[in-house]
Amino acid sequence: MAFSESVKDAAYKLSGGRCECTRQHSGRTDAPHHGGRCTVTFSRHGNWQAHHIISVSAGGSDNLSNCEVLCTKCHELTRTYGNS
Ligand SMILES: [Zn+2]
Ligand SMILES: [Zn+2]
Repeated sequence: MAFSESVKDAAYKLSGGRCECTRQHSGRTDAPHHGGRCTVTFSRHGNWQAHHIISVSAGGSDNLSNCEVLCTKCHELTRTYGNS
């Protein structure tokens, strides 16, 4: 499953057009930030992806409450770790 466009619209508005990631990305020198909130910004149809906070395979929903707005780099690093 994937987020609907209306959920992505709402998530984008809540994010203020800025990546919501606050991960440390420990040991990743290519990360855009280490702790704090990521400073990467983007437009609605720009360089970001809707991330499932709880993965679908773990029973996560496609609702707004499970949607995190991440820049593509943070999303990539999240996937690399193989967790939510
Ligand atoms: Zn980011
Ligand atoms: Zn990040």
